[in-house]
Amino acid sequence: MTALRRPLKALGQNFLVDGNIIAKIIRAAGLNPEDSILEIGPGRGALSDLLAQRAKRLLLVEFDHALAFALKDRYAAHDLVKVIDGDILALDLAAVLGKEPAAWKVVANLPYNISTPILFRLLELRALFSRLVLMLQREVGERLVASPDCSDYGVTTLLLGLWFDIRREFIVPPTCFHPRPKVESAVLSFVPLMRPRAEVGDETVFRKVVKGAFAMRRKTLANCLKACELAPADELGGILEQCGIDGKRRGETLSMEEFASLSRGLSKLHLI
Ligand code: SAM
Repeated sequence: MTALRRPLKALGQNFLVDGNIIAKIIRAAGLNPEDSILEIGPGRGALSDLLAQRAKRLLLVEFDHALAFALKDRYAAHDLVKVIDGDILALDLAAVLGKEPAAWKVVANLPYNISTPILFRLLELRALFSRLVLMLQREVGERLVASPDCSDYGVTTLLLGLWFDIRREFIVPPTCFHPRPKVESAVLSFVPLMRPRAEVGDETVFRKVVKGAFAMRRKTLANCLKACELAPADELGGILEQCGIDGKRRGETLSMEEFASLSRGLSKLHLI
């Protein structure tokens, strides 16, 4: 690689320097020689060499021009490795990855400052992936695997959990990076589901219900739902009753199935 320039904080550049953790991430991806891999933010290539050795095809998307340039140079002789110098959030990923279902795995130590928008982008394109193995800030990871009634449970738990089996693989301490981040990290695996975990009716309504229910954590579910105007106030009580949900509860106490039932009830209203 090129001379090592100071890592850029604005791009979330905390580079992995621990060989043991790198090997554990590669193992968690369960690679086989037929795999096509997308790596988001390859940086100085801590994961990329091992991925290139084990996969049929490797696509690297790196926003830092200098690092992308160095990666292009490093893999110039590797026909199966392609480097895109660009922003993963601006790229037309669907056009780049093609249409074949479950054709790709994603392996990445994500830039933490934009990990949530990246997760939602991957959620949109889930049909293209067979597995994601992602390093995230531990706090974000805890939200993804949280259970109802705990403070980490919220919008990302439910919206990502509707479409993925998510598993926390292991925790990574700050000492495994250069520079060391202030926070702990976690590696999680995501396996896309063929069907949503619960039948939600109109998914746009489900997303609004979930976001509305957590918009004001201290308020009751009924008050939160009134504020997001998904149903006329006089009909809301009836819908909650039909679903067997007490409107005085708080959003964080509802299970995925209860949110789904509420969403089905409200979706019917929208169809009339
Ligand atoms: N994979 C490397 C590793 O583990 O050492 C680097 C990981 S570092 C946490 C995140 C990487 O994402 C950096 O290389 C950074 O430049 C890159 N990055 C930041 N924002 C990006 C974006 N919008 N699109 C693509 N890459 C981005």
